[in-house]
Amino acid sequence: MVLPTTLGAAQQLARGRIPASEARMLLCHLLGCGAAQISAYPERPLTEALAQSFMELLARRIAGEPMAYLLGVREFYGRDFAVGPAVLIPRPDTELIIELALELLGRDTRAPILDLGTGSGALAVTLALELPTSQVMAVDFSAAALDVARHNGERLGARVAWRESDWFTDVDATGFGLIVSNPPYIAEGDPHLSQGDLRFEPPTALASGPDGLDDLRRIIHAAPGFLTDDGWLLLEHGYDQAGLVRDLLDQAGYRDIRSARDLASIERVTLGRRP
Ligand code: GLN
Repeated sequence: MVLPTTLGAAQQLARGRIPASEARMLLCHLLGCGAAQISAYPERPLTEALAQSFMELLARRIAGEPMAYLLGVREFYGRDFAVGPAVLIPRPDTELIIELALELLGRDTRAPILDLGTGSGALAVTLALELPTSQVMAVDFSAAALDVARHNGERLGARVAWRESDWFTDVDATGFGLIVSNPPYIAEGDPHLSQGDLRFEPPTALASGPDGLDDLRRIIHAAPGFLTDDGWLLLEHGYDQAGLVRDLLDQAGYRDIRSARDLASIERVTLGRRP
């Protein structure tokens, strides 16, 4: 295999295989410099070790591995979160939960907050930093995911109480003013699971029973025992599940139920107050 000896040659090699922007991002990651520099200095030499690393990343990207896993980082609500195969890659749509939480509670809230299935910790850490006067607890059933979340909390300076727990089973507190969750909500066997980034993400963070609603049902049924009288439950769900989630909340007796739209104008988050 011929190794590229300059930045320009590396980008040339990637052409037609991955988008040019991704090739630049991989080079930035390896060299620790900005994308503008990558484009401005095509003649800059690449050491053999860096060229080797670039070829490895290129091969993994061509095989479909998500950019976020190759770079080890994904931005969420303006902050960089470490990510790896143990956690779902944070999506821009999920920032809607943060916006709604800020709107419902206000900046000076002291309401304790719980994040269920925290994964990378994106929601819990962001809430803890945006609402510094409230206490945030976050759970995940995966110890490997919690390691990633804890690392993000420490690096970004967020105070979060981390717990290993299968939804509420090991939550050792009640009286939350807000419970948020981006649970798995894709139907088992859905073709999306075998496409794009999803092929490489933890299946347990994505799929949830034959209709995708198993975990949403569990959370909706158990949450009232952990919320204050007027506490809110905020749930992300699939693009076609808003009506179903509103019905589940309604059947469980929740009040003030409504759905909110994401950047693509899809009803993506549904909320309600404790029954
Ligand atoms: N929003 C993700 C996707 O469809 C799914 C995440 C989830 O199941 N919570 O790409």
